[in-house]
Amino acid sequence: MLDSYKHKGLRKKLVEELGQKGIEDERVLKAIGEIPRHLFIDSSFLEYAYQDKAFNIGEGQTISQPYTVAIQTQLLDVQAADKILEVGTGSGYQARVLDLMGARVYSVERQRPLFLKAKKLLGDFKSTVRCFYGDGYAGLPAYQPFDKVIVTCGAPYIPEALVAQLKVGGILVVPIGDDQQTMVRVKKESESEISVSEHGNFRFVPMLEEKAKG
Ligand code: SAH
Repeated sequence: MLDSYKHKGLRKKLVEELGQKGIEDERVLKAIGEIPRHLFIDSSFLEYAYQDKAFNIGEGQTISQPYTVAIQTQLLDVQAADKILEVGTGSGYQARVLDLMGARVYSVERQRPLFLKAKKLLGDFKSTVRCFYGDGYAGLPAYQPFDKVIVTCGAPYIPEALVAQLKVGGILVVPIGDDQQTMVRVKKESESEISVSEHGNFRFVPMLEEKAKG
């Protein structure tokens, strides 16, 4: 599938829309402006790829709404070469945003079909994202510590292992709640202290507790 002028034009409009909705981090907007989102969604939704909406990606999961991706990425305050753990690879779109911003991305997905598909797609883009099949509640102990952690599914509480795997000074962005989630930004102030701030309400698919399956 190609990235046509039509797609590029629609993407430019999407970036303008995100700016109007309050996204200020130019690096985030630049990355979203460069990524062919239509290649990350089901082809039947092609014409909607650049609307600010979430879409099904199979296995009962969704690619997050661009505004949500932008907010979470902005809250992470991504710096080049940051080592970032993502929980919930899904389509791989969010991982690619972080990758294009210069981060070293480690992304975990618990559904094997999605893991395989995203790994292939991200490989096709020659991204440096490293994909893992597993349960995000456990984080990735073998690759810790991380500068940042982003969770792209709704967690019932702040997963302890993810805070443990953050560097001191690191940031975790995680939507917390059942039906609806509050976007929570956790800063690891010291080995034993965190500070927490809240950033609006969102709707995510749930972060599931059982081990990886599929
Ligand atoms: N970041 C994704 C959005 C994916 S939706 C994107 O850009 O497309 C959330 C994803 O989290 C789903 O694919 C779901 O399968 C996954 N997920 C849910 N619980 C998980 C867990 N415990 N560990 C890892 N992934 C999980």
